[in-house]
Amino acid sequence: MASPPVFRFAPSPNGELHLGHARSALLNQRLAREAGGRFLLRIEDIDLARCTPEFEAGIYRDLEWLKIEWEKPVRRQSEHFVDYAAALERLKAMGVVYPSFMSRGQIRDHIAEHETPSRRWPRDPDGAPLYPHVDRALTRRERQKRIASGAPHAWRLDVAAAMETAAEKLTWTELGAGPLGETGKVTARPEIWGDVILSRSDAPASYHLSVTVDDAIQGITDVVRGQDLFHATAIHRLLQSLLGLPVPRYRHHSLIVGEDGRKLAKSRRDTGLRALRESGMSAKEVRALALEGL
Ligand code: GLU
Repeated sequence: MASPPVFRFAPSPNGELHLGHARSALLNQRLAREAGGRFLLRIEDIDLARCTPEFEAGIYRDLEWLKIEWEKPVRRQSEHFVDYAAALERLKAMGVVYPSFMSRGQIRDHIAEHETPSRRWPRDPDGAPLYPHVDRALTRRERQKRIASGAPHAWRLDVAAAMETAAEKLTWTELGAGPLGETGKVTARPEIWGDVILSRSDAPASYHLSVTVDDAIQGITDVVRGQDLFHATAIHRLLQSLLGLPVPRYRHHSLIVGEDGRKLAKSRRDTGLRALRESGMSAKEVRALALEGL
Protein backbone atom coordinates (compact mmCIF):
# COMPACT_ATOMS: atom_id res chain seq x y z
CA MET A 1 0.00 0.00 0.00
CA ALA A 2 1.26 3.50 -0.81
CA SER A 3 2.21 5.52 2.25
CA PRO A 4 -0.16 8.36 3.12
CA PRO A 5 0.69 11.90 2.00
CA VAL A 6 2.41 14.11 4.56
CA PHE A 7 1.57 17.79 4.98
CA ARG A 8 3.19 20.37 7.22
CA PHE A 9 2.63 23.86 8.59
CA ALA A 10 5.97 25.52 9.33
CA PRO A 11 5.68 28.87 11.14
CA SER A 12 8.58 30.86 12.55
CA PRO A 13 8.16 31.99 16.17
CA ASN A 14 9.38 35.51 15.47
CA GLY A 15 6.03 37.20 15.88
CA GLU A 16 2.37 36.45 16.46
CA LEU A 17 0.35 34.38 14.05
CA HIS A 18 -2.15 36.26 11.93
CA LEU A 19 -5.06 35.33 9.66
CA GLY A 20 -2.69 34.40 6.83
CA HIS A 21 -1.07 31.76 9.04
CA ALA A 22 -4.50 30.47 10.03
CA ARG A 23 -5.30 30.09 6.32
CA SER A 24 -2.14 28.02 5.72
CA ALA A 25 -2.59 25.84 8.78
CA LEU A 26 -6.30 25.20 8.18
CA LEU A 27 -5.78 24.46 4.50
CA ASN A 28 -2.97 22.01 5.29
CA GLN A 29 -5.13 20.28 7.87
CA ARG A 30 -8.11 20.11 5.51
CA LEU A 31 -6.09 18.70 2.61
CA ALA A 32 -4.38 16.16 4.88
CA ARG A 33 -7.76 14.97 6.16
CA GLU A 34 -9.28 14.76 2.69
CA ALA A 35 -6.32 12.70 1.49
CA GLY A 36 -6.19 10.46 4.57
CA GLY A 37 -2.73 11.90 5.19
CA ARG A 38 -0.62 13.08 8.11
CA PHE A 39 -0.26 16.63 9.31
CA LEU A 40 2.92 17.89 10.99
CA LEU A 41 3.80 21.16 12.67
CA ARG A 42 7.39 22.34 12.34
CA ILE A 43 8.82 25.23 14.30
CA GLU A 44 11.23 27.18 12.09
CA ASP A 45 13.31 28.87 14.76
CA ILE A 46 16.76 29.03 13.15
CA ASP A 47 16.89 32.80 13.61
CA LEU A 48 17.95 32.65 17.23
CA ALA A 49 18.01 36.43 17.56
CA ARG A 50 14.37 36.93 16.58
CA CYS A 51 12.60 33.74 17.68
CA THR A 52 11.39 33.52 21.27
CA PRO A 53 9.80 30.83 23.49
CA GLU A 54 6.88 33.22 24.08
CA PHE A 55 6.07 33.41 20.37
CA GLU A 56 6.41 29.63 20.13
CA ALA A 57 3.97 29.18 23.02
CA GLY A 58 1.66 31.62 21.21
CA ILE A 59 1.72 29.41 18.10
CA TYR A 60 0.56 26.36 20.06
CA ARG A 61 -2.11 28.39 21.86
CA ASP A 62 -3.49 29.94 18.66
CA LEU A 63 -3.52 26.63 16.76
CA GLU A 64 -5.22 24.80 19.63
CA TRP A 65 -7.82 27.53 19.79
CA LEU A 66 -8.50 26.99 16.08
CA LYS A 67 -8.87 23.26 16.81
CA ILE A 68 -5.92 22.29 14.69
CA GLU A 69 -4.33 18.97 15.60
CA TRP A 70 -0.81 17.98 14.73
CA GLU A 71 1.47 15.01 15.33
CA LYS A 72 3.93 15.08 18.19
CA PRO A 73 6.81 15.48 18.76
CA VAL A 74 7.15 18.74 16.90
CA ARG A 75 10.41 19.23 14.99
CA ARG A 76 12.15 22.41 16.11
CA GLN A 77 14.82 23.48 13.66
CA SER A 78 17.08 24.94 16.34
CA GLU A 79 17.63 21.36 17.57
CA HIS A 80 18.83 20.14 14.18
CA PHE A 81 21.63 22.42 13.07
CA VAL A 82 23.82 19.35 12.49
CA ASP A 83 21.51 18.20 9.70
CA TYR A 84 21.84 21.53 7.89
CA ALA A 85 25.61 21.62 8.47
CA ALA A 86 25.91 18.14 6.93
CA ALA A 87 24.02 19.27 3.84
CA LEU A 88 26.26 22.34 3.58
CA GLU A 89 29.36 20.14 3.78
CA ARG A 90 28.08 18.07 0.88
CA LEU A 91 27.51 21.21 -1.17
CA LYS A 92 31.03 22.41 -0.30
CA ALA A 93 32.45 19.11 -1.50
CA MET A 94 30.56 19.55 -4.77
CA GLY A 95 32.12 22.99 -5.26
CA VAL A 96 28.76 24.75 -5.59
CA VAL A 97 29.08 27.10 -2.60
CA TYR A 98 31.69 29.72 -1.76
CA PRO A 99 32.49 31.91 1.24
CA SER A 100 31.58 35.56 0.78
CA PHE A 101 33.24 38.19 2.89
CA MET A 102 31.58 41.44 1.85
CA SER A 103 29.83 43.34 4.63
CA ARG A 104 26.41 44.88 4.07
CA GLY A 105 28.04 48.28 3.65
CA GLN A 106 30.52 46.97 1.08
CA ILE A 107 27.70 45.35 -0.87
CA ARG A 108 25.74 48.60 -0.84
CA ASP A 109 28.76 50.62 -1.98
CA HIS A 110 29.58 48.16 -4.75
CA ILE A 111 26.04 48.31 -6.10
CA ALA A 112 25.86 52.12 -5.83
CA GLU A 113 29.11 52.35 -7.79
CA HIS A 114 27.90 50.11 -10.58
CA GLU A 115 24.25 51.08 -10.86
CA THR A 116 23.34 53.85 -13.28
CA PRO A 117 19.94 55.42 -14.03
CA SER A 118 19.80 53.49 -17.29
CA ARG A 119 21.26 50.25 -15.92
CA ARG A 120 19.53 49.26 -12.75
CA TRP A 121 21.28 46.61 -10.68
CA PRO A 122 19.27 43.35 -10.97
CA ARG A 123 16.78 42.65 -8.17
CA ASP A 124 15.42 39.37 -6.83
CA PRO A 125 11.66 38.59 -6.70
CA ASP A 126 11.47 40.28 -3.28
CA GLY A 127 13.02 43.44 -4.71
CA ALA A 128 16.43 43.06 -3.01
CA PRO A 129 19.54 43.69 -5.15
CA LEU A 130 21.35 40.52 -6.19
CA TYR A 131 24.64 39.80 -4.45
CA PRO A 132 27.58 41.18 -6.48
CA HIS A 133 29.43 37.84 -6.21
CA VAL A 134 32.84 39.53 -6.33
CA ASP A 135 34.14 36.93 -3.86
CA ARG A 136 33.25 34.09 -6.17
CA ALA A 137 36.49 34.83 -8.02
CA LEU A 138 38.77 34.55 -4.96
CA THR A 139 41.35 31.81 -5.14
CA ARG A 140 41.07 28.81 -2.86
CA ARG A 141 44.21 29.95 -1.06
CA GLU A 142 42.81 33.46 -0.46
CA ARG A 143 39.53 32.01 0.85
CA GLN A 144 41.38 29.74 3.26
CA LYS A 145 43.59 32.58 4.42
CA ARG A 146 40.65 34.85 5.19
CA ILE A 147 38.69 32.13 6.96
CA ALA A 148 41.76 31.18 9.03
CA SER A 149 42.20 34.82 10.02
CA GLY A 150 38.68 34.79 11.47
CA ALA A 151 37.08 37.04 8.83
CA PRO A 152 33.27 36.92 9.16
CA HIS A 153 31.78 35.22 6.13
CA ALA A 154 28.65 33.66 4.72
CA TRP A 155 28.43 30.57 2.54
CA ARG A 156 26.60 31.36 -0.67
CA LEU A 157 25.26 29.12 -3.36
CA ASP A 158 27.13 29.62 -6.63
CA VAL A 159 23.89 29.45 -8.53
CA ALA A 160 25.50 29.20 -11.99
CA ALA A 161 27.81 26.35 -10.95
CA ALA A 162 24.97 24.68 -9.06
CA MET A 163 22.71 24.73 -12.10
CA GLU A 164 25.45 23.25 -14.21
CA THR A 165 26.06 20.52 -11.64
CA ALA A 166 22.35 19.78 -11.28
CA ALA A 167 22.32 19.29 -15.08
CA GLU A 168 18.60 18.62 -15.30
CA LYS A 169 15.71 20.80 -16.26
CA LEU A 170 14.27 21.81 -12.92
CA THR A 171 10.50 21.83 -12.69
CA TRP A 172 7.89 21.32 -10.04
CA THR A 173 4.22 20.40 -9.91
CA GLU A 174 2.22 23.39 -8.77
CA LEU A 175 -1.27 22.49 -7.59
CA GLY A 176 -2.06 26.07 -6.55
CA ALA A 177 -0.81 29.10 -8.45
CA GLY A 178 2.01 31.61 -8.53
CA PRO A 179 1.52 35.39 -8.52
CA LEU A 180 1.02 35.40 -12.30
CA GLY A 181 -1.23 32.36 -12.28
CA GLU A 182 1.63 29.89 -12.91
CA THR A 183 0.28 26.41 -12.37
CA GLY A 184 0.79 22.78 -13.42
CA LYS A 185 4.35 21.99 -14.44
CA VAL A 186 6.39 25.07 -13.55
CA THR A 187 9.98 25.67 -14.64
CA ALA A 188 12.28 26.62 -11.76
CA ARG A 189 14.53 29.61 -12.43
CA PRO A 190 16.78 29.78 -9.36
CA GLU A 191 19.08 32.29 -11.08
CA ILE A 192 16.52 35.04 -10.41
CA TRP A 193 17.71 35.00 -6.79
CA GLY A 194 21.43 35.26 -7.52
CA ASP A 195 23.90 33.67 -5.12
CA VAL A 196 21.68 33.21 -2.05
CA ILE A 197 23.07 32.76 1.47
CA LEU A 198 22.94 29.21 2.85
CA SER A 199 24.75 29.83 6.12
CA ARG A 200 26.24 32.73 8.08
CA SER A 201 28.64 32.88 10.99
CA ASP A 202 25.82 34.12 13.25
CA ALA A 203 23.09 31.91 11.71
CA PRO A 204 24.42 28.50 10.69
CA ALA A 205 21.54 27.66 8.35
CA SER A 206 19.37 29.80 6.10
CA TYR A 207 15.66 29.36 5.49
CA HIS A 208 16.30 27.82 2.06
CA LEU A 209 18.69 25.19 3.35
CA SER A 210 16.78 24.18 6.48
CA VAL A 211 13.37 24.03 4.81
CA THR A 212 14.68 21.84 1.98
CA VAL A 213 16.53 19.46 4.29
CA ASP A 214 13.60 19.19 6.72
CA ASP A 215 10.95 18.59 4.08
CA ALA A 216 13.06 15.61 2.96
CA ILE A 217 13.87 14.31 6.47
CA GLN A 218 10.21 14.51 7.46
CA GLY A 219 9.03 12.84 4.25
CA ILE A 220 6.82 15.79 3.29
CA THR A 221 4.92 14.96 0.11
CA ASP A 222 2.85 18.14 -0.09
CA VAL A 223 4.12 21.63 0.64
CA VAL A 224 1.15 23.96 1.08
CA ARG A 225 2.10 27.56 1.86
CA GLY A 226 1.46 31.17 0.90
CA GLN A 227 2.09 32.55 -2.54
CA ASP A 228 4.82 34.83 -1.16
CA LEU A 229 7.05 31.71 -1.14
CA PHE A 230 6.23 30.64 -4.69
CA HIS A 231 9.51 31.90 -6.18
CA ALA A 232 11.59 30.48 -3.32
CA THR A 233 10.58 27.05 -4.59
CA ALA A 234 13.07 27.46 -7.45
CA ILE A 235 15.96 27.48 -4.96
CA HIS A 236 14.46 24.55 -3.06
CA ARG A 237 14.24 22.54 -6.30
CA LEU A 238 17.87 23.28 -7.08
CA LEU A 239 18.99 22.18 -3.60
CA GLN A 240 16.86 19.02 -3.85
CA SER A 241 18.48 18.17 -7.16
CA LEU A 242 22.01 18.74 -5.82
CA LEU A 243 21.40 16.79 -2.62
CA GLY A 244 19.41 13.99 -4.27
CA LEU A 245 16.28 14.66 -2.22
CA PRO A 246 12.71 13.72 -3.12
CA VAL A 247 10.53 16.43 -4.67
CA PRO A 248 7.22 17.20 -2.97
CA ARG A 249 4.17 18.59 -4.73
CA TYR A 250 3.66 22.30 -4.11
CA ARG A 251 0.47 24.25 -3.57
CA HIS A 252 0.88 27.97 -3.09
CA HIS A 253 -2.30 29.59 -1.88
CA SER A 254 -3.45 33.18 -2.24
CA LEU A 255 -2.54 35.58 0.53
CA ILE A 256 -4.98 37.46 2.69
CA VAL A 257 -4.33 41.12 2.08
CA GLY A 258 -5.03 43.94 4.49
CA GLU A 259 -7.44 46.77 3.74
CA ASP A 260 -4.58 48.71 2.16
CA GLY A 261 -3.95 45.84 -0.28
CA ARG A 262 -0.64 44.90 1.37
CA LYS A 263 0.07 41.38 2.53
CA LEU A 264 -0.32 40.71 6.23
CA ALA A 265 2.80 40.85 8.34
CA LYS A 266 3.49 39.68 11.86
CA SER A 267 3.83 43.29 12.94
CA ARG A 268 0.20 44.05 12.10
CA ARG A 269 -1.81 43.74 15.24
CA ASP A 270 -5.24 44.12 13.62
CA THR A 271 -5.32 40.63 12.15
CA GLY A 272 -3.26 38.83 14.80
CA LEU A 273 -5.09 35.71 15.97
CA ARG A 274 -4.69 36.70 19.60
CA ALA A 275 -6.09 40.17 18.93
CA LEU A 276 -9.06 38.68 17.07
CA ARG A 277 -9.71 36.27 19.95
CA GLU A 278 -9.47 39.04 22.51
CA SER A 279 -11.83 41.20 20.46
CA GLY A 280 -14.48 38.54 21.08
CA MET A 281 -14.46 36.69 17.76
CA SER A 282 -15.09 32.97 18.03
CA ALA A 283 -12.68 30.38 16.64
CA LYS A 284 -15.41 29.35 14.21
CA GLU A 285 -15.69 32.88 12.85
CA VAL A 286 -11.92 33.18 12.49
CA ARG A 287 -11.74 29.83 10.71
CA ALA A 288 -14.39 30.95 8.22
CA LEU A 289 -12.66 34.30 7.70
CA ALA A 290 -9.27 32.67 7.15
CA LEU A 291 -10.58 30.31 4.49
CA GLU A 292 -12.85 32.86 2.79
CA GLY A 293 -12.21 33.22 -0.92
CA LEU A 294 -9.82 30.27 -1.19
N1 GLU B 1 8.83 29.47 8.12
C1 GLU B 1 8.31 30.09 6.95
C2 GLU B 1 7.45 31.28 7.34
O1 GLU B 1 7.01 31.37 8.47
C3 GLU B 1 7.45 29.18 6.10
C4 GLU B 1 8.25 28.12 5.45
C5 GLU B 1 7.51 27.26 4.45
O2 GLU B 1 6.30 27.03 4.59
O3 GLU B 1 8.16 26.77 3.54
O4 GLU B 1 7.22 32.14 6.52
